[in-house]
Amino acid sequence: MTSAESPKAKEEIAVVGLGKSGRAAALLLARAGARVYASDAESSPASEKTASELRGAGVSVDVGSHDVDRIARATKVVVSPGVPPNAPPLVAARRAGVCIVSEIEIALSMLRGTRTIAVTGTNGKTTTTALIGHLLRALRSDAVDAGNIGTPLAEVALAAKHPQWIALELSSFQLHDTPSIAPDVGVVTNLSPDHLDRYARVEEYYLDKALIFRNMSEKSRWVLNGDQREVLTLAGTLRDLPAGPAGKKRPNAHENGLPLGKVSRFSIASRGEEAWYDRERDELVVLGEPLLPRRDLMLFGDHNVANALAASLAVMIADPTHRTPEARHKIADGLRSFRALKHRLEVAGEFGGVLWINDSKATNVSSTLVAVEGMTRPTVLLLGGRHKGEPYTSLAPAIARTCRIVLAYGESAPIVEQDLKGLVPLERLGSDFAEVVARARALSQPGDAVLLSPACSSYDMFKNYEERGAVFKRLAAERQG
Ligand code: ADP
Repeated sequence: MTSAESPKAKEEIAVVGLGKSGRAAALLLARAGARVYASDAESSPASEKTASELRGAGVSVDVGSHDVDRIARATKVVVSPGVPPNAPPLVAARRAGVCIVSEIEIALSMLRGTRTIAVTGTNGKTTTTALIGHLLRALRSDAVDAGNIGTPLAEVALAAKHPQWIALELSSFQLHDTPSIAPDVGVVTNLSPDHLDRYARVEEYYLDKALIFRNMSEKSRWVLNGDQREVLTLAGTLRDLPAGPAGKKRPNAHENGLPLGKVSRFSIASRGEEAWYDRERDELVVLGEPLLPRRDLMLFGDHNVANALAASLAVMIADPTHRTPEARHKIADGLRSFRALKHRLEVAGEFGGVLWINDSKATNVSSTLVAVEGMTRPTVLLLGGRHKGEPYTSLAPAIARTCRIVLAYGESAPIVEQDLKGLVPLERLGSDFAEVVARARALSQPGDAVLLSPACSSYDMFKNYEERGAVFKRLAAERQG
């Protein structure tokens, strides 16, 4: 850290939440010479362990409660992604006018020499980020995947050696609190309503996504979904941003809504964009030349063709050396060797002629829609969990085409039933997941698929979507043979 960035003596920075992001941010700040107060409302063996590590690094720590008054006196509050905006320490900080920033903001200021390809959007962020990291490594670049994908950016910044490149996944919540985000290349995969449990209006959610453009300039490079007008004109919505601190200029997009800088588009619907899917030849075409036959991409569904196009384009425009014939070969090889990530249309196994597919990461209606649309077998669909606010009605035509039956389960079952009843075959079940899986087994026939693609969050019955997917895979494999 340069002296200009060093906090002044006596000023204290509060870190709220002691998960892996909070831990890394607190260590990073302490190492840079800041006075740090870190706290977590929950006391667990894991948070106690983190607390003792942080105390060893000179951080003042509370576990089991937050000293809200102390947080309200801090010069800055660093928030972990899991902490909801209405958590008492954040409410107190906001009331006291304390600036709240993400762990990403802290890390970015310490990763000045590293080049960043940042990815946001509603769906496909993790897959596209992982693809970008994979392609950069296929080009023999030193690249790390970070952010919402799993490894906190602060952890990358803590390492003795910083990587040359970072593939950085950013959620809308992270973007909300990252004022200095200015990626070398910014990617927006797609937009559709989500998180209506946390945002009052979909426009507010889109506005947080638009913050990826907040420091755009003529030098910026963007990879945008050419099939979605909302994505192409997203930067224009920044005009609705509430006025910032005095003197801070509001970023102005072009009149037509396009961001400043160079915009490259990908498309699976129309030909001729910088990256597009030639359905006739069944090829992925990037920067005017065929890159890969579709059949060589080991990913299921057209949405994954879109993710592969976005990732290839982002990597190629990031640096001229990534566009040479030799580099294109390496990128094509990288695409060939990439495999579906866990819980994203992951095949759990084939048992008694029935294919069991785990798409537990499908936590909104649009992600379930692409999964259902991609099914080629009669399907028993497991739909339910904690409702997030979107109606399920838009799923009806695709379900009617591909599904034998919908099993509506969990907290949202009555709403799912109300939205889809009469439109598709449906059975309403309770919140015993073993029973739901047993029912799916009883109703499926050889040649069918059982698809867990819940369109809901998992928090009514599980710790997170990973646990939901793991339980599904275990139950699917049980009592087989
Ligand atoms: P995110 O990180 O944005 O949640 P993931 O890559 O983890 O996205 O994928 C989550 C789910 O979203 C997948 O299981 C799939 O059903 C769906 N999905 C992935 N890519 C896309 C896309 N490009 N468009 C629509 N849905 C997608």
